[in-house]
Order: sequence, then C-alpha cells, then structure tokens
Amino acid sequence: MPPTKDADKKSIAELVDKYINDNNVMIFSKSWCPFCKKIKQALTSANIDFYSIELDQMDNGELILNELINKTKQETVPNIFIKKEHIGGCDKTLEAMKSGRIAALLNPTESKMKHQKTDNDHLNSYDYDLIVIGGGSGGLACSKEAQSLGKKVCVLDFVKPTPIGTTWGLGGTCVNVGCIPKKLMHQASLIGEYVNDSIDYGWSKLEQARQHDWSKMIGSIQSYIRSLNFKYRTDLRSKSVVYENSYGQFISPHRLKLTDKKGQTKEITGKNIVVAIGGRPKYPDIEGDKKYGITSDDLFSLEYDPGKTIVVGASYVALECAGFLHGIGRQVHIFVRSILLRGFDQQMATRIGDYMSAIGIQFHQQTIPIRLECLEEGKPGKLRLHYRQTLESGEIYESYEDCNTVLFAIGREACTHDLNLNKIGIHINKTNSFKIKTKQEQSIDVPWLYAIGDCVDEQNMPPGKMLELTPVAIQAGQLLARRLFSNSTIMMDYYNVPTTVFTPIEYGAIGYSEEDAITQFDQENIEVYHSEFVPLEWSICHHRENVKTMSYCKLIVDKKTDRVIGFHVLSPNAGEITQGYTVAMRLGATKHDFDMTVGIHPTCSENLTTISVTKSSGDSVSKEGC
Ligand code: FAD
Repeated sequence: MPPTKDADKKSIAELVDKYINDNNVMIFSKSWCPFCKKIKQALTSANIDFYSIELDQMDNGELILNELINKTKQETVPNIFIKKEHIGGCDKTLEAMKSGRIAALLNPTESKMKHQKTDNDHLNSYDYDLIVIGGGSGGLACSKEAQSLGKKVCVLDFVKPTPIGTTWGLGGTCVNVGCIPKKLMHQASLIGEYVNDSIDYGWSKLEQARQHDWSKMIGSIQSYIRSLNFKYRTDLRSKSVVYENSYGQFISPHRLKLTDKKGQTKEITGKNIVVAIGGRPKYPDIEGDKKYGITSDDLFSLEYDPGKTIVVGASYVALECAGFLHGIGRQVHIFVRSILLRGFDQQMATRIGDYMSAIGIQFHQQTIPIRLECLEEGKPGKLRLHYRQTLESGEIYESYEDCNTVLFAIGREACTHDLNLNKIGIHINKTNSFKIKTKQEQSIDVPWLYAIGDCVDEQNMPPGKMLELTPVAIQAGQLLARRLFSNSTIMMDYYNVPTTVFTPIEYGAIGYSEEDAITQFDQENIEVYHSEFVPLEWSICHHRENVKTMSYCKLIVDKKTDRVIGFHVLSPNAGEITQGYTVAMRLGATKHDFDMTVGIHPTCSENLTTISVTKSSGDSVSKEGC
C-alpha cells in the first residue's frame, strides 16, 4: 500500500470519528468474519439497534482499519463503540452485554432505577432475591451465577432415597448417579479391552486370568464422588450462597416449605424462584420391580457385584450400563420393547445394537418384563424375570430368564410430584414425563417462576432433540441468572447441542438425525455422505476381528446451502471427536468447509474431512488403509 498523505490521514480520522459520534452502537466489521456475524446476531436478539460498515467491501476500508488500530490499539474486527466509548471486539462486547454495561451506557437513567428498585424490593419483602430448588448441574450453576451478580441466593437440595435405600450428596444426577460414575465405569471397560489389545502389541500374557474387582472400582469412584460433594458444599459456602439440605414444596407464590431429613420444617420466601429438580428413573410397575430391581440410581454405588444382569430398556442409559457391565466381564442381557435409542438417528442406533451383539451382549427384541421374583436372597441373590415376547411371526409367548440383578432403565420422570405446583396454579405435562412447560426464556406462566434442566418440557426446542444433558442444564442456568440480574437478553440456544452415547463403541452426534432432516427439509433436499472405516489402533488386534470394520460416520447436508445439518460418528473416542466439530457446526460449516479442512493423520476424526461417498450413489462405504 502506498504511504498515506497527512491530509488523507486527517480526513480518514474525521470519518472514523463521525461514524463513532453519529451512531449509538457502531460496528466496524468485515463481511466474511464469523465474530462480526455473531455479535450482530447477539445485538439483534437483544433488540439493540446498531450501525455497521463492512471494511472489506469499501475502497478506503484498509485506511479506516489503520486509523482504528491507531485509535484503539485493536487490530481485529469487529471493533465496537457504544455511545462513543470503545468497547472492543466480539467477546468484550458480549461480556459487556452480560454485565449490563451496555444497557447502562445506552439507557443510564432506566438502568439506575431498575437496580434501585430491585435492591429496595428484596430488602423490604423477601428472604432471598433467588431461591433455586435443586442443587444439580442447572441449579448450582444458576445459583452461583446469580450470587456473582450480587444477589442473595438460597439453593435447596434433597435426595429422596431409592426403594432399596440408596442416597447421595450435593451435586445432583450428573455427579452422583449419572455422567461421572458412568464415564468412569465406561473407562473401566475400555481398559479391559486395551489389556486384550496389548497381546498383539507385544505385551506378554498375564500369568493369571484377569479378574475385575467390583468393590475396588466402586470404592475408587465413590471416594472421588464424595470429594466432589465436599467441593460443591465448600464452593457454595465460600460464595455465600445459602445451602439448605431440605426438600422444598410450594405453600403459596414466593413461599416454600423446607423439610429436612429429620422431618423439621421451616418456611422461606424468594422474589424469584427457579425450579431445577431434575428427574429420576421410572419403574415398569410390575410385581417385584421396586423390591428386587434396581435402577442407575443404585448401580453406581452398589456394594456387591451385580453378576449376571438383565437390563430392561433401550434408552441411552440402558445401553451404556449394559455396555460397561459387559466390558468388565459380567454376562448381560437387554430386554428391548420396541426400538433402540428413541429420538436418536435410527441407522446409528441399529449400528450400535449390531456392535453390542457382536461383542456378546444378548438382545431380546420385542420383550417386556411382566413379573420379577426372588429365587434366593443374597448379595447378589438369584432373581427370575418373567417376560412376554412378540415374535416376528406375531406370535406372543411368555417365558423367564434367571439372573443376579435386574436393572430398569426405561426412561426418567421429572420430580414434580410433591412440589405442590398446583398450589400456585401451575400444571405439569403428564404426557411428557411430568415435565414443566416453559417459554423460551424458561419462565412458567408467572414472571417470577422459572424452570431449567431435565425437568423442563421446553416448547421451543428443536424436534426430537435429546437435551437432558448436564452442559445444557448448566448453560440454561447461567444464562437465566444473567437475564434476571444483569440485563442480559441472551437465550439458551438448543440447536447444534452435541451429545455422545458412551456405549462400547461411542456415538457422537450434532444437529439433525437423518429422520428429522427428511421431515424438516424433504428427502430430495438433503444429501447424506457416509463412510465406514477401521480405527488404525484396532487394525492389528485379533480379538477385535469381528468388529473392526464397524466404525462409521455420516454427514447430512442441506443441498440448497451446502450446510452440514447433521453430524454422526461411531468410533473410539467419539465424544472427544464430536466436541470440536460442534464449533464448526455452530458457525454454519458447509460440506465444502469439511472438504477443505486438512485432516490429522492417522486418526478416526480425519474421516469426517475426507468423506465423499453419498448414500444416493449406492457406492460402497468401506475404507481401509490410508
Ligand atoms: P439434577 O442434576 O438431577 O439435579 C436435581 C436435584 O434436585 C437433585 O439433587 C434432586 O435430588 C433435587 N431435588 C428434586 N426435587 C427437590 C425438591 N423438591 N427439593 C429439593 N431438592 C430437590 N448428561 C451428560 O451431559 N452427559 C452424560 O454422559 C450423561 N450421562 C448420564 C448418565 C446417567 C445414568 C444419567 C441418569 C444421566 C446422565 N446425564 C448425562 C444427564 C445429566 O445427568 C442430567 O441432564 C443433569 O444432571 C440434569 O441436571 P438438572 O440440574 O436438571 O437436575
């Protein structure tokens, strides 16, 4: 670029000042920049008007950029000014929106009055600015965020024991009876597989056949969980969030009755109340289910080896538990009433079932339990599960399977039963697992009551999405607290939420399943690219011979825009793979972007960057070697 004359510099500086002075919100942007798009979207959804210019499309764009660098020492776009004050780039502006700084700049009087009103309100009438019922993933995140915004917060958490008496500490499902112990047990089973692999990698065979010690594993996992419970309690204390280990029930609007484990009660009031009560496993309501059966709420701290286990259900919890129990050497049967992994991509679900059958898990299709009896007391005892099965011919017959443990994993229900929501005029959705219907901003009919996490029956969620996930509850909780207490308007975005099922072969997914994509876009408007591949690390392992070609990935593409709208991968470490691609999907990655991405060789993940066979071509999907 030729040197700029002083006169030019002056007129450019004046031009930049004019843009900044004339516009309340001024964005210096570039048309292709994803951060510029992101901040514009955020401002638009917050109803904040802005003026932007695209420097890459202007003859003097580069001169303006140089002047901005001079003025602000910021070399990147977007470069944002509000009421003449330099805010910064995308992240700093989002932060400023979150903290309420932007609202205060744009509307100083209103913002001041709002804060005064809130402070006076809580001093005059309520014990707390916010009460959160439920100290799980969503509740803890919401309460800590609200406290960090200067609010007086109380969080209630109480675990009702399971029918066989299992209970646990602060932190909710994820920490105690969900993600954390599940993933550690999944790891236990993967380690067993690696030890089998080790022979082909030159390690000598162990002198004695390997034994898996259930009690040792439970001991390690439970002591880790207890350390997390302790950390959560001290964390709340250090942040001055009041923690009540009590069961909360509504008495009237804003007023709750708290009952602790000794049965002692008290009442508290809150200006705002967030319901974050999560869910608990369902039982099939058959004779003996609660007396002799267990659920995932019991499994992760079971003091005795479960032995031969029948898993009833085909939810992701069912398949994950069946997978790790098999992986640590227990005999496992699965009773499936209709399909595997309802709500997930059904081709992927079938492939998971095929893989699990191939490694020796016995599936009983079209089978429902009808009675559970105890043949012999013990830890474990001997149980007999009577069942009814519908054969392919349509014939129905009844039989039984003996085992040591029956694990029911037939779905979960929101813990709304005893909350007394009816006392404040709120109705729950009995047809959808007793969940609470909320609006997009998580509010429930009245302006002071909100719900987040697993107990929510969100009306504005994308179709068929599995959103009972810890990171969803956490983000919803944090965003809600910011909207309530810091003038933020950012809503939870339920699109492109990634998820992984930790079955023996992991399954990661983002966006649409093939079924949902067809419903939403029509078959002729989508293209499905797919590929089978062999993970290199499995290629020399003899014990994996019958499953090594079962890794698979597919991308579902909107033909009109070339955008990837569905991402699916079945492979070792699918969880790790999927997380990274989520960023690309959020930024609107196209199939061309995937093709232009250089892979990391040799990895499973690279297959997503080289995938070229379309389903419509009917060509072979198998791929071996480089
Ligand atoms: P929860 O974490 O369930 O917390 C609710 C809390 O409120 C509980 O402690 C409950 O006892 C308490 N409570 C209920 N009623 C009251 C009341 N009236 N008064 C006081 N306290 C009350 N998600 C993932 O993202 N990844 C995974 O790998 C994963 N694996 C899972 C594996 C299993 C086996 C299960 C069951 C779940 C798994 N999940 C996973 C889901 C995840 O655990 C949940 O989505 C998440 O915990 C939901 O958080 P929450 O805050 O909505 O509710």
